[in-house]
Amino acid sequence: MFFCLPIFFGCQDTVKPDGNEQVARICPRCNNGSVFAAKKKTWFEFFFIPLIPFNTKHIWMCSICQWAAPLGPGLWEPAIAYAPPQGWNSPPQSFQAGYNPGYPNQQK
Ligand SMILES: [Zn+2]
Repeated sequence: MFFCLPIFFGCQDTVKPDGNEQVARICPRCNNGSVFAAKKKTWFEFFFIPLIPFNTKHIWMCSICQWAAPLGPGLWEPAIAYAPPQGWNSPPQSFQAGYNPGYPNQQK
């Protein structure tokens, strides 16, 4: 008797926020204050079940456009979202924490 059992295996990436208290940072691609530190794990998967994690990376990840960059000591960091840019001494009165520079004309 002959029967054929298909075997599914492969790799899958999972991304989770790294830590609880995080400061939002500016995304260089979409300019939203939505970049957070995250942990990216690559899993070996067998029949769609993640079995063995074999690679963990710390990354910056934008929750809006999915932009990502490696995170580590000495590497470039995205600007913090609520800090005014250098040389900008008089922020407008509407400036506040959580201000979203991607949508300057948005009405509340
Ligand atoms: Zn983005």
